[in-house]
Amino acid sequence: MLARQHWCHYTSVMSLRLPPDHLSPETLLVRGGTDRSRFGETSEALFLTSGYVYDSPESAARRFTGEEPGFVYSRYSNPTLAMLAERLRLMEGAETCHLTASGMAAVYAAMLCHVRTGDHVVSARALFGSCHYILSTILPRFGVEVTFVDGTDLAAWRAAFRPTTKLAFCESPANPTLELVDIAAVAEIAHRHGARLVVDNVFATPLYQKPLALGADVVTYSTTKHIDGQGRCLGGAILCDDAFGKAEIEPFLRHTGPALSPFNAWVMLKGLETLPLRVERMTNSAASVADALAAMPGVTRLLYPHHPSFPQRDLALRQMQRGSTLVAFEVAGGRTGAFAFLNALKLIDISNNLGDSKSLITHPPTTTHRAMPEADRLALGITEGFLRLSVGLEAASDLIADLARGADAVVALTRKAAE
Ligand SMILES: *Cc1c(COP(=O)(O)O)cnc(C)c1O
Repeated sequence: MLARQHWCHYTSVMSLRLPPDHLSPETLLVRGGTDRSRFGETSEALFLTSGYVYDSPESAARRFTGEEPGFVYSRYSNPTLAMLAERLRLMEGAETCHLTASGMAAVYAAMLCHVRTGDHVVSARALFGSCHYILSTILPRFGVEVTFVDGTDLAAWRAAFRPTTKLAFCESPANPTLELVDIAAVAEIAHRHGARLVVDNVFATPLYQKPLALGADVVTYSTTKHIDGQGRCLGGAILCDDAFGKAEIEPFLRHTGPALSPFNAWVMLKGLETLPLRVERMTNSAASVADALAAMPGVTRLLYPHHPSFPQRDLALRQMQRGSTLVAFEVAGGRTGAFAFLNALKLIDISNNLGDSKSLITHPPTTTHRAMPEADRLALGITEGFLRLSVGLEAASDLIADLARGADAVVALTRKAAE
């Protein structure tokens, strides 16, 4: 049976009356975690309250010691957040889920709660700009040493671990190159050295890749992306086992306070109901877009995990159920070519967000990865002609027609340069 968590005491109607392990992800994402109030509302309620009241001082005292179940303050938890956390937990198959105000707060907390001065961290080099900043700039300020490795090279991972290594970190697929890390193999190496593996699973989504089942210890999400999925709210989530959640994540979040707004949690609860529909459709379109881009003149490189040309296709097929909703590619003509491509688009928006119902495209070297040293960018393949496309819910045919406008502009440019 679904474990009735401490927050369930106020309900009259539990929505999920079946064991969750008998239910499909689609069902869990509509019904999992729903905890109805005494009014029996159909849709999950939005609890805009910062605090809670107690029947007596004795009750307040018991709430604070944990003898009596219930909420005490919305920095710690809130009924709407509890519903979202439970729904995400069921989807991921994790023991616990903690929510944060953004994806970066989730990544930061998952690392900072665990490391101390003198500890060592190993990370894949291919990272979202802000993840890179935490590792390269913030952690060293506290005397935590960080080694960056080529995430695709298992020998490099093996060589980087030390007796003081407490944590390994990767994004797979990584932003923006879609480079993969063999999660099962790196988890095995990390565990042999007594370290924990944290995986940022934003690009794969909880539907199409299960890092915990592959051996990772902690999974983080920016729920801003596919989970809201309609470009409205920021949020983040950390999923892990009970022991780590209770001992390390929970006290860190309670006392540092990167709490998710109940309103954002409510938007995301509703977002989860349609996650499989949206992500499946976006993934189908991304696969069609990848095929079309591969054949377009002016496109010099394509990166899409399940595409036949993908350098790590075997690993992609092994650890990701489907390709991503993101497609990366390079156009001829460097930055001039990339900007000509972007300026020719009439449908797809230029934006650094992703996982939205609207298709969005970005030029990482001048935006999301601007702060990364040029040599590091180039080593990762983020060249001046590199573009990252987040495929939305528009018809794939309209998207392909728009991308063809971009490719035509690149071809016209290279022709002019040749004259
Ligand atoms: C967007 C993103 C984040 C950060 O999430 P925010 O909600 O914007 O803070 C972290 N990791 C990856 C891979 C992302 O794409």
